[in-house]
Amino acid sequence: MRPVRNSALAFLTAGFVLLMSVQAAFAEDPLVQAVQTVAPNMEPVIPHVLQSNEAREKLAALEKKFGKKPNILIFLMDDVGYGDPGCFGGGHMSGAATPNIDRLCKEGLMLTSCYAQPSCSPTRATIMTGRLPIRHGILRPPMYGEKGGLQGEITMAQLLNEAGYATQAVGKWHMGENVESQPQNVGFEDFFGFLSVSDMYTEWRDSYFYPEIVHNPARTAMVEAQKFNKHLVHAKKGGPIENLDEITIPVCSKLDEMWADYSLGFIRRAAADKRPFFLYHCTRGCHFDNYPNDKFKGKSACKYPYKDVIVEIDDVLGRLVKELETTGQLDNTLIFVTSDNGPEMEAWPDCGYSPFRGAKGSTWEGGMRVPGVAYWHGMINSGRVNDGLFDLSDLFTTSLAVAGASSKVPADRFIDGVDQTSYLLAHDGESNRKFVYYWLKTDLSALRCAEYKFFRMATDFDHKDTVCVGGFSGYNKEYTFGKFFNLYLDPTETHSYLIRKLVYTGLISEALNAHRETLKKYPPKIVVTVD
Ligand code: CA
Repeated sequence: MRPVRNSALAFLTAGFVLLMSVQAAFAEDPLVQAVQTVAPNMEPVIPHVLQSNEAREKLAALEKKFGKKPNILIFLMDDVGYGDPGCFGGGHMSGAATPNIDRLCKEGLMLTSCYAQPSCSPTRATIMTGRLPIRHGILRPPMYGEKGGLQGEITMAQLLNEAGYATQAVGKWHMGENVESQPQNVGFEDFFGFLSVSDMYTEWRDSYFYPEIVHNPARTAMVEAQKFNKHLVHAKKGGPIENLDEITIPVCSKLDEMWADYSLGFIRRAAADKRPFFLYHCTRGCHFDNYPNDKFKGKSACKYPYKDVIVEIDDVLGRLVKELETTGQLDNTLIFVTSDNGPEMEAWPDCGYSPFRGAKGSTWEGGMRVPGVAYWHGMINSGRVNDGLFDLSDLFTTSLAVAGASSKVPADRFIDGVDQTSYLLAHDGESNRKFVYYWLKTDLSALRCAEYKFFRMATDFDHKDTVCVGGFSGYNKEYTFGKFFNLYLDPTETHSYLIRKLVYTGLISEALNAHRETLKKYPPKIVVTVD
């Protein structure tokens, strides 16, 4: 009888193991997993109890070791495409090696489905507030001193500062030049950079691209008379903006170097500070037009300005990481490297590379899917690659969680960011986000869940614009029934097969309706728009 009983036991055990593995398989599929409400004003999450516990234990052990909360470094590049870094398919292949990004990627977590907004300022404000542009109101970049920006929003810098963090912003701001929206008035203790966007300082000074202005004193005077700040600036918390060098083209070419030096100094001083820090380092590169620093001119294999600047900002990242290491702070610092939108294809060849369809200014993958690297020596397992969804709004919620300040997340407004701490920190952690919503100005354009993307509205462009594959010259077009893409089979979004996938329409409608409901309860805000 014994052999029979053993066989039966073995059979039952095998059955149990199979059942558990099937459950585990389902549990890891975000398409079927239910979401959980965290708070009435927050995007629901996919709960992962075990990985959350693991992350909590890791953070507790680290705090015990360092005696303070972890530092956070966000390294934000400008207009760098998904495919520019070597680890994402570019690098040597596209004539600009990125050994430092590649190393962090290899020794950290490579996020292959990391999403920005379609353009600069909307993304930057989304990182800062954890809210989509339709909620923070910066629907497109403010230009030439236009009013409006972050004022009235609650930023992660402000909340981290209240939680005892030293807060430093370096580089590009572009979330409003008005006093109430300036970095030193929205949570940063110190700011060194420029208030707007690179092209605004140079596109009327370069005689090659803009001869009709440079060689016409009246037109030059017209631009100079516009009320936007034309300087590199410095400010301290609550104080006025101090104008430094005027940003001429030679000055522009040195900005990434000056900003690197400033951040290096901050990191050195931070080592002696009892407080943890939040360093928000935003590069000048590689927004058009690029004027490489003399030290990097011709240093890329490609030799074009954009590519030389890719080499420079990769070098800057490497130096910041090295300084963290030298000063003994590397193990206590979460580093997140990303870009604020896809490549700007209307400025070709001063533009990046994306393997996806479309570009900056559109809700095609090329416009919003950006390189994402989370690196934390000793805390994030080396060599991880994960395609789980990560929206840059998640940086807000995740940073506050890492800082032990989740209780500071505002309750009076909707927060789109999801706490992804356990996704980043747990061994083989999975994303806590079920959906990514693609907005273009006031239009809800698409929805992603797992490998699927449903398009209800797309950015198209005039097909006579043969050189334009995206950018700001397109228009929104509503599909009668929608398009449905499998991004694994079809990453370039060319084979819609909605008719074969009607089984998912319930899931899509439910998700879109739930998202729209949040906007009824928390009405949209419009601060900066074209209209
Ligand atoms: Ca940008």
